Amino acid sequence: MALFDPPGSLEGERLEDGFGRRFSYLRLSLTDRCNFRCTYCLPNGFVKQQGLPSELSSEEIYRAVAAFAGLGLWKLRLTGGEPTVRHDFTEITRKLREIEGIRRIAMTTNGYRLAQRASEWREAGVDAVNVSIDTLDPKAFASLTGHDRLADVVAGVDAALEAGFDTVKVNSVLLRDLERSGWDDILRFVETRDLSWRFIEFMRTNDNTAFHEQQATPGEIVRDRLLAAGWEPQSREIGAGPAVDYAHPAYRGRIGLIAPYSPGFCESCNRLRLSSRGRLHLCLFGTEGLDLRELLQRDDQQEELVSRIVAAMPGKSRGHRLNEGDSGATPHLASIGG
Ligand code: SAM
Repeated sequence: MALFDPPGSLEGERLEDGFGRRFSYLRLSLTDRCNFRCTYCLPNGFVKQQGLPSELSSEEIYRAVAAFAGLGLWKLRLTGGEPTVRHDFTEITRKLREIEGIRRIAMTTNGYRLAQRASEWREAGVDAVNVSIDTLDPKAFASLTGHDRLADVVAGVDAALEAGFDTVKVNSVLLRDLERSGWDDILRFVETRDLSWRFIEFMRTNDNTAFHEQQATPGEIVRDRLLAAGWEPQSREIGAGPAVDYAHPAYRGRIGLIAPYSPGFCESCNRLRLSSRGRLHLCLFGTEGLDLRELLQRDDQQEELVSRIVAAMPGKSRGHRLNEGDSGATPHLASIGG
């Protein structure tokens, strides 16, 4: 696996919150539209809400990212909704790459166009790609996402491996009905592929409470199964997210676990989020967010924009309150950028 070059030092991280956490990572939602209908996220598909402002234009996006980069955030993740439904996705990526201070661009996608576009996006400047696959059973995949396209998405993963991204990861939401039955398929999948299959504990949002109650499964189940089968936890890279990856000599790929319900999960939080309508979210499960849009209109507003971001930082809470059944103001992850 080719590792990315971390910055020479982390002194670039100048933005700090009230708990001494420093921020290197911006998750940027390009759109809240999505073409999939995942049961736990947008079960009825994307529904346009009347009265909301439009998505940020590419110019507004560049101004926002330039301000965050000036504050030392050097890693970007393009997400959504489904970021690749934006017709200007490739062009946006290419220009973001030119912003001083941005050293790494990752994207998260449902993979529906990845088989055709992997090389184009790599060439435009995407360093790392995460593809969402919750199950390798084609029928269960179709039922969960509303699209009978598992084969296309798997072809997309293989195209991404071919295209030479620094890392390819699979995001897989840990659902009770799927985790046992799908285990052997997943082991076969990672046996020969140089990627990391990441289980993510299913998080409760305001729209999925009933489904969450039925399907939530603690990450310990995966961890215990891995340890019992001889998988070993790996040390984390600089700037890496909260996942713990496990490796096994008989497998080329790794299996990881992201456990937002585990104690201390937020202690090392290094990320901020900007919604596709220009709201700064200090936490995925926080408030409605702080509007930055009026300060994204002209290049000469950068100073004011930076001051507004800095002034917001003391408002970042110590951690989310998912364990108390409080999902903040978040209806589903597509609304902020999962
Ligand atoms: N459309 C893109 C995709 O499918 O990857 C990007 C957006 S999607 C919201 C980002 C990731 O969030 C996906 O891997 C999805 O499975 C995950 N996700 C959505 N809702 C979730 C929830 N309630 N708990 C855990 N993960 C969730």
